[in-house]
Amino acid sequence: MKSFPDLDNCCQDVLAEQLNHWSLANGLVMYPPNFETYSTCAAPVTLYPTPFPKTSFVKALDVQDSFNELYAKVSSDVDWLSSVMDELIALDKDFTGKLWNIYLKAEKIGLCQPILLGLVRSDYMIDSDSMIKQIEFNAISVSFCGLSPKVSNLHKFLNKSGYYTSSGSEYYNDESELPSTESADKMADGLAEAAKLYNSQEHTSDSLVLFVVQPKERNVFDQRAIEYSLLSNHDIKSKRIVFNEIQNYVKVDPLSKKLFYMPTNEEVSVVYYRSGYGPNDYPTETEWESRLILETSKAIKCPTLLFQLSGAKKIQQLLTNKVLIEKYLSNEKIEKITDTFVNIYPLDSSEEGIKGQTLAFQSPQNYVLKPQREGGGNNIYKDDIPGFLKKLSKDQWNAYILMDLIHPPTYKNTIIRNAKLYNEDVVSELGIFGTIIWNSETKKIISNKAADYLLRSKFSSSNEGGVAAGFGCVDSLYLFQ
Ligand code: ADP
Ligand code: MG
Repeated sequence: MKSFPDLDNCCQDVLAEQLNHWSLANGLVMYPPNFETYSTCAAPVTLYPTPFPKTSFVKALDVQDSFNELYAKVSSDVDWLSSVMDELIALDKDFTGKLWNIYLKAEKIGLCQPILLGLVRSDYMIDSDSMIKQIEFNAISVSFCGLSPKVSNLHKFLNKSGYYTSSGSEYYNDESELPSTESADKMADGLAEAAKLYNSQEHTSDSLVLFVVQPKERNVFDQRAIEYSLLSNHDIKSKRIVFNEIQNYVKVDPLSKKLFYMPTNEEVSVVYYRSGYGPNDYPTETEWESRLILETSKAIKCPTLLFQLSGAKKIQQLLTNKVLIEKYLSNEKIEKITDTFVNIYPLDSSEEGIKGQTLAFQSPQNYVLKPQREGGGNNIYKDDIPGFLKKLSKDQWNAYILMDLIHPPTYKNTIIRNAKLYNEDVVSELGIFGTIIWNSETKKIISNKAADYLLRSKFSSSNEGGVAAGFGCVDSLYLFQ
C-alpha cells in the first residue's frame, strides 16, 4: 500500500485551490447553513483517496444483492413483522408505532400496488482483520449517490493533473486503483426501471417520478444528480415536493387510485422519499395523513412502509440469527452475508437480552447503543451507555440494540471543509448502493442490483460521521491488494 502523497504546505495550498475550483465547477457542492437559493459551497471532502483493501471492496459489492433480497423478503413477511412490531410499537409509540399504524390503516383501506422499489445502501467498516463488518442497512432515503461519483472524479482529476506530487507527475499509476462509481446513474436506472414497469402496467407513457423531500434541504444537489440522470438517460421527468406540502400538490383519483401531480396534472409513476425517515419529518398529523394517501395510491413507492420498517435497527439485530434468515435466503447466500455481521444484542429478558444488559454495564467501552432512528446523531457510545440506561425504566431498554463497536484502521488523510484543512487521523465507512424491484404479491424479484459505492470519512476522534451535520466528509477509494 502506498502512503499518502507528501506535499509541502505550498503544494497543499495549490492542491486545495484546485480542489475547490473543481468542486464548484462540477457541482460537488451543498448549500451552506442559512443559505440563499443562489449560494453554494464546496462539499466537505478528503484531499486524497483513502486506502481500502481490494478484496474487502469486492466482497461488499458481492453481498449486495443478497442483502437486497433479504430485506425485500422480510418486508413481505407481514406475520413476522407484525409479531416484532407488537413489542416495538409499545416502546417507540411516537415513530415506529405510528409508521406501523399507518401501514395497518393503509392495509384496511386497500393497498393496490404490489410492486415496491428499494433504493438502498449497506454500510460497512473494516475490522482489525480487514473484514467488512456491516454497520447498518438503510432502506429509506439513502444519500450521497449523487455526490460520490463526483468525489471519485475529483480525486482522479487531481491525480492525473499532477497535483498529488511536487514534480507534477501522477501519484497513483493505475486507474484501477481508484475505482469509478456511477451510483447516481445506477440509482436513477432503478427509478427508471420501476417507472417503466408502472407505465406498461397502466398503459401510460408520460408519467413522472415524485421526489418527496425535506424543506430547506442542504444536500439538494446530491438529489438533483439523480433527477438529471433520469431525464438525460431515460427521458423521465421528475418533480420535487416538500413532505409538509404534499396535499396541496397531489390528488388521487378515487376510482383508479392513480396519483397525480396537480400543477401539471401529470400521473406519478414512482414516489421516491428523500424524507419521512424520522419523527421530525412528521411535525403534525397532516404528514401522517399524507403518507397514508401516498401509500394507498397506485404509484410505486420507494420505499413502502413495510420496506422502511424492515430497515429498523431492531430487525437488523434479529436478522443476525442464522436460523431466522434461513426462511429467506439460500445457504450459500447466508454464509456470505453472515460473515459481515458483528454481535448485536437485544436488551430484553431473553437469554441474549440478559447477556446484552450485563455487557452494557460491564464493558460499555466495547459497544454502541442504538435506538430505532435513522439519520445520524441518535446513538449512545461507550461509557455513556450505563448512565443513559439507568435513566430509563428497564422496560424501555428493549427499544435499543447493543452492538459491538468496530475498530477500523486509521489513516492520516486531510479533510477540507470550508477551505480549512484538517490533518487528522480519519476512519472510513464504505456504503454500497443497491436497487431492488420486488413484487410483494407474487414474491418475485423483478430486478436486483448493486449500484456502486460511497466512502465517507470522519475524524477518528468523533463517534458519528454525518457529513451535513459537520462530523464527516465524502471520500473515494484507493484500493490496495
Ligand atoms: P444512523 O441510522 O443514524 O446512520 P448508524 O447505525 O449508521 O445510524 O450509526 C451512525 C454512525 O455511528 C455510523 O455512521 C458510524 O460512524 C458509527 N457507528 C455505528 N455503529 C458502529 C459500530 N458498530 N462500530 C463503530 N462505529 C459505529
Ligand atoms: Mg448510518
